[in-house]
Formats: sequence, structure tokens, C-alpha cells
Amino acid sequence: MKLCSACLLGFKCRYDGKSKPNNKVIELSKTEMLIPICPEQLGGLSTPRCKHEIKGNKVYSEVGEDVTLKFEKGATETLKIAKLLGVSEVILKQKSPSCGCGQIYDGSFTTKLIEGDGLTTKKLKKNGIKVIPYD
Ligand code: SF4
Repeated sequence: MKLCSACLLGFKCRYDGKSKPNNKVIELSKTEMLIPICPEQLGGLSTPRCKHEIKGNKVYSEVGEDVTLKFEKGATETLKIAKLLGVSEVILKQKSPSCGCGQIYDGSFTTKLIEGDGLTTKKLKKNGIKVIPYD
């Protein structure tokens, strides 16, 4: 059993109200139990919502609102689910300020990528949970 970014499984939970289905992940869900989670919804953000990016230690919306606490809440709630279910591996969507693993946008909202992890990825890794990135 693994947790999985809900948007990769076809749930319409992204900022633009759309999903980002990944065929490999959907195939995997036929042979392994994948539990869909969306850290941003778990953190209390609405769908659809503004774009958000990480800048330094904070997360901002594209209109400049500091939403770090909501992103942290989403990370905490996701970790809680992982612990409750005894999950040790999680599949997360690349580049997201929550789920990104290895690469995230640089905070300028110009689609420029930098090295880094989303807040949920960071928290899960810190707690010994393996993050497997998919796009
Ligand atoms: Fe997908 Fe994660 Fe963004 Fe939710 S927070 S829409 S699961 S990438």
C-alpha cells in the first residue's frame, strides 16, 4: 500500500480544478492499493485556487498571500495518514510546492525550476518515508 498524489490518479484537485492523470500510476493502482491524497486540500485550500510557489522557507500565492501555514497543515495531515496506515512509500507529483520531489518552481511564477522539495515531500522524507516522484 502507498499514498499517492490524487491528481496523478485522475482526481480534479489541482489549482486549476483539473487532474494530471499518469497512465503508469493508474496501471499500478490495478495491482497495488494506492490511497489518493491531496495535501493542499488537506491543508484547507480551495479548488480551484491560485498558483502557489515556494520562496525561501515560505509559500506564496501568485497574488502575494503567505499561505505557508496551510501548506504545513497539509504536510502534517498527509504524514498523519501515512503513519495511521503504516505506509513507508508515497508516490507524489513532481514540481508541486507540496508534492514536488527534486525540482520545484523558483518562486518567481515564471516556470523556472530549481532544485528542491515541496513541503509535504520534505516532511515525509524527514520522517523516513520514501517519496517516489511521477509527473
Ligand atoms: Fe496534486 Fe499534490 Fe497538487 Fe494536490 S497538492 S493537486 S495531490 S500535486
